[in-house]
Amino acid sequence: MGEAEADSSPSTWLPGPLIVGAGPSGLAVAACLADVGIPSTVLEKSSCVASLWQHRTYDRLRLHLPKQFCELPLMGFPDGFPKYPSKHQFISYLESYATAFGIRPRFGTEVLDAAFDRGIGAWRVRTRGGEDFVSRWLVVATGENAEPVVPEFPGMERFGGRVVHTCAYRSGADFTGEKVLVVGCGNSGMEVSLDLFRNDARPHMVVRNTVHVLPREMLGWSTFVVTMALLRWLPLRLVDQFLCAMAHLMFGDTDRLGLRRPKLGPMELKNLAGKTPVLDVGALALIRSGNIKVMRGVKEITRGGAKFVDGMEEQFDAIILATGYRSNVSSWLMDDGGLFTKEGMAKDPFPGGWKGEKGLYCVGFTRRGLLGASHDALNIARDILLRRNNPSSHHLAKQ
Ligand SMILES: Cc1cc2nc3c(=O)[nH]c(=O)nc-3n(C[C@H](O)[C@H](O)[C@H](O)COP(=O)(O)OP(=O)(O)OC[C@H]3O[C@@H](n4cnc5c(N)ncnc54)[C@H](O)[C@@H]3O)c2cc1C
Repeated sequence: MGEAEADSSPSTWLPGPLIVGAGPSGLAVAACLADVGIPSTVLEKSSCVASLWQHRTYDRLRLHLPKQFCELPLMGFPDGFPKYPSKHQFISYLESYATAFGIRPRFGTEVLDAAFDRGIGAWRVRTRGGEDFVSRWLVVATGENAEPVVPEFPGMERFGGRVVHTCAYRSGADFTGEKVLVVGCGNSGMEVSLDLFRNDARPHMVVRNTVHVLPREMLGWSTFVVTMALLRWLPLRLVDQFLCAMAHLMFGDTDRLGLRRPKLGPMELKNLAGKTPVLDVGALALIRSGNIKVMRGVKEITRGGAKFVDGMEEQFDAIILATGYRSNVSSWLMDDGGLFTKEGMAKDPFPGGWKGEKGLYCVGFTRRGLLGASHDALNIARDILLRRNNPSSHHLAKQ
């Protein structure tokens, strides 16, 4: 489908921007707009703010980065929050944030498609409830993690035990006594394996590709803080060498544990491929002690377990897919004017990537987490304010 065709269904004309998604990114944009006196409308398909955090994350989750890098614009975390707030603390912060800025999303409102209507010079947005909205500005805030990625292994349908994606995993207590195959070794795979072990399950973690595991802290300093500071002064490659040397000093040779490091350094890989290094919170010690077993890639799933590419075969009671998420933008946003890649991520790298054409914006799609989303939100609000006060600039091409 290309641009929207004029149709006869009644449409609600909005006086301000339309934001799709009430996660941290959507809330941040709505707050920044409210701060400059611009009312916005937020459409959210689920029944609450931050549905990813409320409904699709495990109980023991804490923010991976220190709190000062996870605050949204204009309102910090309450005093007394720990350095790495728990998911419950983060959710309560987001709820207070929405209240503080008078943000009242329209819940249960899933956007089915959005397209620019040239005839009226505005975006038409159609929702599952049959309602249509029209706005001059459309802000895409549906997140990089909108849909779980579920790989298909040969024989998967034969498996007799439970298969769950991490989006449905709450606690290792649901797997006590079980031998569990965790597919994936990113932050989620590592933390779920750790949680399973702490709840007396027997985790086996599949490591198919290379992976950078870094300590979450170095000598009491957050690795993220150290990295950001060093990047101001030193070339990326040198910073990567430093990070790998520190990781080697603290962990020893992780290759020997089955966790082979990529050829590219952690920051270079993040910049080029968007692959985030794992920040270890204790899983590595368990891998070393053999309490989390590292397995090679899955060849096929059997009725009672799995066969691996190195010829091993093991029985399992359950499989947990820590295989990540993907964006859903390409399924509903028509006519994006080249703002997104076909995978639904921002085409331009951070700090760009937030502004499209014809009043289209996106927030939180440059793989920079909450810090990146806050940066986008401030820019979007400023830009909309400028264009609202100077409507002739509205049709200007992307700057
Ligand atoms: C387990 C986990 C841990 C993480 N930890 C950190 C961390 O410590 N620090 C950090 O910076 N980042 C972290 N992240 C990244 C995290 O995704 C972001 O920080 C943050 O949640 C992104 O916010 P968002 O609003 O862009 O997307 P989301 O939180 O995914 O919100 C998008 C919203 O859009 C809604 N939506 C989607 N499609 C539609 C539609 N068609 N119509 C209407 N509504 C729709 C969704 O229901 C959702 O509520 C973590 C991610 C995961 C999965």
